[in-house]
This record gives sequence, structure tokens and C-alpha cells, in this order.
Amino acid sequence: MPSPRVLLAIALSAALTASCGGLDEEPVASSPSKKPKKTAEAVKAASGCDEAGDGFESDVKLVRCLTEKFWAKQFKDAGGTYQPIKKFIAYRGNKAPSAANCAGEKAEPENAFYCSDGHFIAYDADWMKSMYRQIGDSAVYFVVPHEFGHSVQAQLETEFKYNVKLELQADCYAGATLAGLVESEELELEEGDDDELIANLEAVGDPTDAWWEPDAHGTPEKRMNAWVKGFEKGVDAC
Ligand SMILES: [Zn+2]
Repeated sequence: MPSPRVLLAIALSAALTASCGGLDEEPVASSPSKKPKKTAEAVKAASGCDEAGDGFESDVKLVRCLTEKFWAKQFKDAGGTYQPIKKFIAYRGNKAPSAANCAGEKAEPENAFYCSDGHFIAYDADWMKSMYRQIGDSAVYFVVPHEFGHSVQAQLETEFKYNVKLELQADCYAGATLAGLVESEELELEEGDDDELIANLEAVGDPTDAWWEPDAHGTPEKRMNAWVKGFEKGVDAC
């Protein structure tokens, strides 16, 4: 039985071969992992995050808790203090409550976002749940850590000239978060999670490589590249 990491590497090299330049093209190491492999299936562990991770709502709560725990440790290890987000708001489609307004703007359907003005994360639960159903549980283990990546950027006052750089760094942070949680045995990856991640990035990546656009997030290939960089090399590589 091939390990998902090997499959991931193969899928990635195909994706990279197909892509033709732009911002940071960093080749991804395709060496097979020696560790037994898994991806984002949560297992209840002695994490202090008391959720079973056995369904959409539970997975969302669990990944939020684990992600903040991960960053609290990262900040502490670096001599800093992580500031937990103030709110974690689920809304439904275009019926977002005013509490989810960010800088006066109403939350849009089919989105998840971090708002620095208020230091909170909000997400369209209907949209995320449909991805969860169609793609698998990995969807929330990608989207939620990505948004927390933005909350970390806000705390570190990270700025880039192009939005796409912030987005790809948030993807990298999301990969590093997952790897850290797997390492600490708070998450266990399962076979097929890499395919789910690829499907998720196909769904949320930009259809074209207009990386200079203010709302650019990067193509699926670039986003995958960034996520894997974080997963394989950790936060410092982001
Ligand atoms: Zn983002």
C-alpha cells in the first residue's frame, strides 16, 4: 500500500511540471517519507482540546483548538505570547450576523476569513460543510489553520507587497500547523487525505495565475507547494 506522502509527491511533481513560472517556484522535495503516513484525520488525544473530531462541527472546534494550541507553543518557544482570536463565528451563506462584519463590510457567502479589525475568524458554515461533505474532513483542517495563519501574520505584523504572498504564507503556516500536530500526535493523518487536500486546493485556488491581483490567492499548484513547504520544513520555512 503506497503511503499518501509518496502519492502527494507524485501529484505535486506533476502539478509543478505543468506550471510555468511566476512568483516563488520552489521545487518540492519528492523523497518518500519514512514515517508511517496519514493526513488530517483528527484523533482525540491528550491535547486538552476536548473534542472527538467525529463530525463537521466537532472537527471545526477541534481544529480551532489544536491550531491555537500549536501557535501558543510556537510563540512561547520564541519568547513571545500568542493572542488567541476573540471570536470564531459561524454564519450561513448570505445571512451573516453583524458580529461577523469586518471593518464595516458584511461577511460574504462561501468564504472564511480572518479580520484583523477585531481579531476574529468567521466562516460560512454551509459552504465549509459542503466542502467537508464533498471533499472530506481535510477541508476544515486546511481552511481553519489557513485563517489562523492570517491571525499570526497580524500578530507578527507581516507585510508583503502582494496579497498572494500573504495567502501563500498562510498556506505554508497551515501545512506547518498540521505537521506540528501530527508530530505531537494530536492529529493523525489517514490515507486519502492528500487527495482531499489537492481537491480542496483545486476548489479554492485561483483559476488563473494573476498573482498581482489584490485578491489573488495563488493557483492550486502554488498553494499546494506552499502548504507542503510548511508541512515538510515547519514554520520557519514560511
Ligand atoms: Zn487567506
